[in-house]
Amino acid sequence: MQAQAYAVKQPATPFAPHTLERREPGPRDVAIEILYCGVCHSDLHTARAEWGEPMYPVVPGHEIVGRVLSVGGDVDRFKAGDIVGVGCMVDSCRTCAACADGLEQYCEGPNGFTGTYNGAIKGGTPNTFGGYSTAITVDQHFVLAISHAEKDLAATAPLLCAGITTWSPLRHWGAGPGKKVGIVGIGGLGHMGVKLAHALGAHTVAFTTSESKRKDALALGADEVVVSRNADEMAKHLGSFDMILNTVAASHDLDAFTSLLKRDGTMTMVGVPEHPHPSPSVFNLIMGRRRIGGSLIGGIAETQEMLDFCAQHGITSDVEMIKMQDIEAAYGRMLKSDVKYRFVIDMASLKQAA
Ligand code: NAP
Ligand code: ZN
Ligand code: ZN
Repeated sequence: MQAQAYAVKQPATPFAPHTLERREPGPRDVAIEILYCGVCHSDLHTARAEWGEPMYPVVPGHEIVGRVLSVGGDVDRFKAGDIVGVGCMVDSCRTCAACADGLEQYCEGPNGFTGTYNGAIKGGTPNTFGGYSTAITVDQHFVLAISHAEKDLAATAPLLCAGITTWSPLRHWGAGPGKKVGIVGIGGLGHMGVKLAHALGAHTVAFTTSESKRKDALALGADEVVVSRNADEMAKHLGSFDMILNTVAASHDLDAFTSLLKRDGTMTMVGVPEHPHPSPSVFNLIMGRRRIGGSLIGGIAETQEMLDFCAQHGITSDVEMIKMQDIEAAYGRMLKSDVKYRFVIDMASLKQAA
């Protein structure tokens, strides 16, 4: 089955049209026509080799919403015509302790989980291609049911990465009523973090470097907004947070935030910048038994839980629709923190061009 795509075909070149082969669905597979795909900062990090040399061609995209075209004979959860989602993973070993716990993102098998793009397929072709394309074939275990209304489907796509990457740590560290939770960086992940922490009932504080996002952050659900470049504003929150979720995509001073944690508070890192952060001060950690942790996307079961929670609470992403052909300009704006708050590619733009 042929699919149209946009790919970076070799190092340091821009995106260009590309045709790729998708496998015909095997017994457990779901073939999906892609309708929308969100643009994650991880797509940029990968396509531009900021995390090391990727496998070329690179076809990013792991915030996929589409319609089922056909299913294999053993597929019991989906049928042709269903609206479904695919996130950051398309396979894992299924047998290790992490997989057994429904935490496939921490798969301990020999290859870990298989990424939706730039990931090796077990025993098959050496690369995977993501959602900047018109179709994809995925094992049903890694396909999510979408119950949002048809009109909200484009705005649902970013839940598949930005949503779950903030939901999983918020749940793990107990964000809820009576807890004060900070969200640092109001981009794709951060704006979902604000919406979800608020919906979970936590007192939610948004930290931004962009004065222009102050009003938006309140509208997204923040109880308070702090412009982190302003030392006086920061000082008002010293020693007061149960949890801080740091989504910033660039290297920065972590001490400014660890000092805002209360005793036994945790700052969870989800941003993965190209260059390391300056080493955090041990003082800030030992004074108050504070912690810095990390978290990777989320498991398939908790992704479904998050999608169902969002459908029930009417939560979607704030999106700006783009054409596939405009991806380079979108990356340029993402680097300037100028995204309100997630770009989503309308895949009709690629189908029309084909
Ligand atoms: P994004 O939309 O570009 O948002 C990042 C935000 O960080 C910006 O909007 C900006 O917010 C802030 N920021 C950017 N440069 C900054 C700087 N120099 N100093 C301080 N703040 C800065 O990116 P995203 O898609 O949300 O992704 C964020 C990071 O998470 C990326 O590194 C991505 O690869 C990573 N990620 C990790 C996982 C995981 O599983 N752990 C999953 C997905 C993505 P303000 O304007 O509000 O300051
Ligand atoms: Zn992502
Ligand atoms: Zn595993």
